[in-house]
Amino acid sequence: CRGCQFAPFLYNMMEVIFFLKLYTLYTRTRLGYMYYKRQMRKAREHYPAGHSTSFPMDLNGIRIIPISVLSDNYSYLIIDTASSLAVVVDPADPQSVQAVILEEGVMLEAILCTHKHWDHSGGNKGLKRLHSSCRVYGNAADNIPGLTHPLSHKESVTVGRMHFKALFTPGHTVGHMIYLLDGQAFGAPSSLFSGDLVFLSGCGRMFEGSATTMLSSLDIVGSLSDDTLLWPGHEYAEDNLLFAAEVEPRNATRESKYQWVLQQRGQKMCTSPSTIGEEKQYNPFLRSHSAELHLALRVQQLPDEDWTQFRARVLEELRKHKDLFNRR
Ligand SMILES: [Zn+2]
Repeated sequence: CRGCQFAPFLYNMMEVIFFLKLYTLYTRTRLGYMYYKRQMRKAREHYPAGHSTSFPMDLNGIRIIPISVLSDNYSYLIIDTASSLAVVVDPADPQSVQAVILEEGVMLEAILCTHKHWDHSGGNKGLKRLHSSCRVYGNAADNIPGLTHPLSHKESVTVGRMHFKALFTPGHTVGHMIYLLDGQAFGAPSSLFSGDLVFLSGCGRMFEGSATTMLSSLDIVGSLSDDTLLWPGHEYAEDNLLFAAEVEPRNATRESKYQWVLQQRGQKMCTSPSTIGEEKQYNPFLRSHSAELHLALRVQQLPDEDWTQFRARVLEELRKHKDLFNRR
């Protein structure tokens, strides 16, 4: 009957509406903040030493420290070792970040916030209270708590000898930004702090943007030099590479990275950083051009469809597959 025919569609619509309502509650109301506080308490109980073990990386005068917070987030403390001035990216749990600041004996000059979601921005105000001269950077479109210095595309932030370039990458949220630390002055590779835009072998959900918007944000990442280090906002490597195997089963680079990630995760070790060069070889979300991917997703370029339009359609399909994969 007609009812049965439409049932799956209606069910899907209900799911979408329910999900949108939840998302609005999370991002726009106090309930979202309360949920985040609860998650933080639970994570501190479950993982008193953090969800993963990580080590600082020293790059000729810059020190990058991944800080494991909540159940799978990373904040990053970045230090100019000559001046002991520091920047933190997405300090979701201010207590954990403050502990590392004290341990390193550095002065916090700036918070670089990638986007408004509580698991990235929830610690801004708490940390600012402890460091009153600290500036809070982010995009004005994103309602970032404690924002003092709104940034637009390609604006720079300088702290000590460190130069960061902010890149506007909407899609996950309307005001998502990523931050590129220039390594040249240090004779080191550059570092990209990618928030929820790109993860090891994955990309963020498209909560507030179309596939076309997300694709142009991902293309910015794909255009960076291959030796750029990638420091994402979450530890999702193992799941993401499992999904990548479904859509590109014959990709040998993906398989060897997966074996390495399994070893790391077996000991709860952090999988950051990878490099942009590596990601371009196995991250399906940076590979919307791949013929094997098109075959797996059963999408074909239409005769009058331009290449970018087609790649956006591939990305949309890929994201749908990933969302279904997560629900299994
Ligand atoms: Zn997010």
